[in-house]
Amino acid sequence: MAELTKAERMKLPRQGMPEQDPNIRKTNFKEVPLGYTPDLAVAEADRCIECKKPKCIDGCPVEVDIPGFIHLVRQRKFAEASRKIKETNSLPAVCGRVCPQEEQCEVKCILGKKFQPVAIGNLERFVADYERSNDLVELPEIAPPTGKKIAIVGSGPAGLTVAGDLVKLGHKVTIFEALHKAGGVLVYGIPEFRLPKTIVQSEVDYLKELGVEVKTSHIIGKLDTVDELFEEGYDAVFVGTGAGLPNFMRIDGENLKGIYSANEYLTRSNLMKAYDFPRADTPIAKGKNVAVLGGGNTAMDAVRTAKRLGADNSYIIYRRSQAEMPARAAEIHHAEEEGIEFLLLVNPVKFIGDEDGWVKQMECIRMELGEPDDSGRCRPVPIEGSNFIIDVDIVVIAIGNSSNPLIVQTTPGLDTNKWGNIVVNPETMETSRPGVFAGGDIVTGGATVILAAGAGKVAARAMHEYVMNKK
Ligand SMILES: Cc1cc2nc3c(=O)[nH]c(=O)nc-3n(C[C@H](O)[C@H](O)[C@H](O)COP(=O)(O)OP(=O)(O)OC[C@H]3O[C@@H](n4cnc5c(N)ncnc54)[C@H](O)[C@@H]3O)c2cc1C
Repeated sequence: MAELTKAERMKLPRQGMPEQDPNIRKTNFKEVPLGYTPDLAVAEADRCIECKKPKCIDGCPVEVDIPGFIHLVRQRKFAEASRKIKETNSLPAVCGRVCPQEEQCEVKCILGKKFQPVAIGNLERFVADYERSNDLVELPEIAPPTGKKIAIVGSGPAGLTVAGDLVKLGHKVTIFEALHKAGGVLVYGIPEFRLPKTIVQSEVDYLKELGVEVKTSHIIGKLDTVDELFEEGYDAVFVGTGAGLPNFMRIDGENLKGIYSANEYLTRSNLMKAYDFPRADTPIAKGKNVAVLGGGNTAMDAVRTAKRLGADNSYIIYRRSQAEMPARAAEIHHAEEEGIEFLLLVNPVKFIGDEDGWVKQMECIRMELGEPDDSGRCRPVPIEGSNFIIDVDIVVIAIGNSSNPLIVQTTPGLDTNKWGNIVVNPETMETSRPGVFAGGDIVTGGATVILAAGAGKVAARAMHEYVMNKK
């Protein structure tokens, strides 16, 4: 078939990704999108007009060579395309699934000015899955041993990225992870129906094959301190402990039974597989009327989990309007398709319990939008006298997380900001303590997978310099 012209390629329709039917998927925990076939991927890659001055790369926090990998997809060189992405992003199968591409690379796609942007995330996901499922993952060359030892605290995307980059440079790398499974939010927070855990496990296994040692159930700050790691012979320490401390509403009745933090709710369901109770050891309370407070990805994950656990009514309660919701557009769309009800411009003021101490109702107040606040979003203002009651038997609070204070409390001289986030030099990710580097949510507060991975890349470069020049 004759090669299409650029003008013809521009007009090709964006290739949607096949998905599980909403009525079926809301009863199971299997992944919602089913992935491109090779032909769909090539058809989508054909839409890339290979701009002379592409803007998409500017939208990617780790500067993936997007036109370069899409060009390889057009040539059906799928594994090569995945390797091209891995030159700067070690987690393409994860990022292809969870990155907010609509705000990053795809929003910059020049084709998007007139037509729909190229589905960069879908293509990223496809090539990474193709490489993995066809056993085409190649182990990179590892530099000769340097004799330097690196400790990484936390195994989320930040820690995993640092580990991958430094082990390739010949250092001896050990990850210390508090939980019994490595992966951070990727395993305990984001549900199976968005990010299958086998994918995260294969990333961890890959690092182990490269020589990274992973010590799980090992809490730094309890079993050893950062200072003790240095005494044990580590030359540098990376702190990638994330933002895992849930925020609460601080309103009456918040201690009633049936009220969970999103962290606990999602950890039970994802990490401990409570949705499979009693086959799994950990139970989870299943409600008929479940209210999830918040408007971010965490809230969407929790409310869609509640639906899959059998709730008749699962509500998102959000104090602003849909336009201000921080969740990814795709997650909101999927939630709507699955029958989630959105109670917008509504804020809880009180939880009401039954005689056994279980939550049974929630008093809410309606809100209106006022002037923009520090975040740039319109401030929600209560409408006096608009209070109303809704029946609930489970409430999940997903209004954000703060940083875990353990490392800061047990590491003297580590500077933090007013939110308890570790302060770093953004060029190197070095903290106020020489030899201690930090990155990801522990530095930025709750952010994104790709920003955490990007911080890991910066830190790894600086840590290499540091240990090689250390006297
Ligand atoms: C439910 C949910 C959904 C999300 N959805 C998205 C999404 O769709 N897209 C997106 O881009 N981002 C999403 N995010 C945000 C994203 O997951 C985080 O920004 C990212 O995981 C941060 O990576 P990190 O490596 O800094 O920390 P984390 O992933 O939080 O990992 C930190 C790890 O450190 C461990 N740890 C903590 N303290 C210690 C200690 N003292 N000793 C040893 N180990 C310790 C923790 O157990 C954890 O495993 C979501 C977050 C949540 C909670």
